[in-house]
Amino acid sequence: MLKVINGKLSVPDMVTVPYIIGDGVGPEIMPVCQAVVNAALEKAYEGTKKIEWKEVLAGERSFQQNGSWLPDETLDTFKEYLIGIKGPLTTPVGGGIRSLNVALRQTLDLYACLRPVRWFRGVNSPLKEPQKVNMVIFRENTEDIYAGIEWKEGTPEAAKFLHFLETEMKVKNIRFPDSSSFGVKPVSREGTERLVRSAIEYALEHKYPSVTLVHKGNIMKYTEGGFKLWGYALARREFSDKVFTMMEYDIISKEEGKEMAKNYLRSAMQEGKLIIKDVIADAFLQNTLLKPEEYSVIATLNLNGDYISDQLAAMVGGIGIAPGANINYKTGHAIFEATHGTAPDIAGENKANPSSLLLSAVMMLEYLEWGKAALLIIKAIEDCFEQNKATGDLARFMENGTILTTSTFGEELITLIKS
Ligand code: NAD
Repeated sequence: MLKVINGKLSVPDMVTVPYIIGDGVGPEIMPVCQAVVNAALEKAYEGTKKIEWKEVLAGERSFQQNGSWLPDETLDTFKEYLIGIKGPLTTPVGGGIRSLNVALRQTLDLYACLRPVRWFRGVNSPLKEPQKVNMVIFRENTEDIYAGIEWKEGTPEAAKFLHFLETEMKVKNIRFPDSSSFGVKPVSREGTERLVRSAIEYALEHKYPSVTLVHKGNIMKYTEGGFKLWGYALARREFSDKVFTMMEYDIISKEEGKEMAKNYLRSAMQEGKLIIKDVIADAFLQNTLLKPEEYSVIATLNLNGDYISDQLAAMVGGIGIAPGANINYKTGHAIFEATHGTAPDIAGENKANPSSLLLSAVMMLEYLEWGKAALLIIKAIEDCFEQNKATGDLARFMENGTILTTSTFGEELITLIKS
């Protein structure tokens, strides 16, 4: 069984992976994903490494079968087996659960949301040079305005909170106090540190040149500004021999002049040190369009991460094929997921693109350090897209694109993997 021993994942040759098939197009894309992963494992390891797929219930399918959107048994299974993969889930309307994804993240404390962003040749992109985009986003998943601490305008709770702000905290600048709703944005040093630590470790392991802390610290000085300061402090404290921070650059610049600071930076880069820098979120969004090659690993807060993930995915034409993972590097718990929804408009038509789910399975294989199988899948997807073959959502924008069904796309990938 998969275990964490001394902070490191110990992976047996046979790994049980619980999976939620998902609603809508889920039952079409999940079997294709599993068949492709099985084929890649067989080719890479000739039967010595295998996945045993174990179905667990959640979502509409679960609600119809047993009246529960997210049974305890499912959560227990994920807890026990450490990792899992999920198809898209219908968001319950008017039920007790706000979002199944949020419930899963909170229960397992999956604090890092990982979104790799890269371009596949052949895929239509709004950028002139999409090949320059190669980033991995680490979005903090448990704090910020998403903590759900909100009070609605006109309620006794909002009035009570307003009273506290005005009388206890002497707040005087609420423009329309009586018709305001309120939200609280907790951002902690601990929450920041575990996220930034994971981003730095990932960048070092995968040999990325930089980690960029993206924040709005110019406006929200203690929350977003705290994220920046705590992030830099952690980098210097825990990784001093492996990184060079732009905070040090600024200090050297002030004390010894800009030329000296540039020399330090140059030699740090020559020594292969990881550069830790920061940028204000709005400037970051501009820069990603103008000079994407300057960014590699991105560490950011929850709300910024939400906006950034979608913009970057759109830049490489991959909004429908972007993969995602939610991870707690300390406990080892990780859930890999398709980032799109249930696509009810095409469900049952064998049209859905399984790439988002499949690329999240690739992330899972990399997490297990079964990189040879992961590479085989990536290569097959690259080859398929380069031959202008894809499901309709992508093929219709390709020059002379050939539209494949969900299942024939899967078969094509398996043929490429076996060849
Ligand atoms: P959606 O992502 O399901 O669909 C948006 C558009 O993208 C549709 O035109 C759809 O056909 C297309 N699309 C999505 N996935 C595709 C795929 N794999 N291949 C080809 N085309 C694809 O978003 P929505 O319609 O806003 O949401 C539908 C349901 O999904 C809602 O219940 C929503 O709450 C839920 N949802 C779940 C998740 C998740 O589980 N991670 C994420 C987003 C939405």
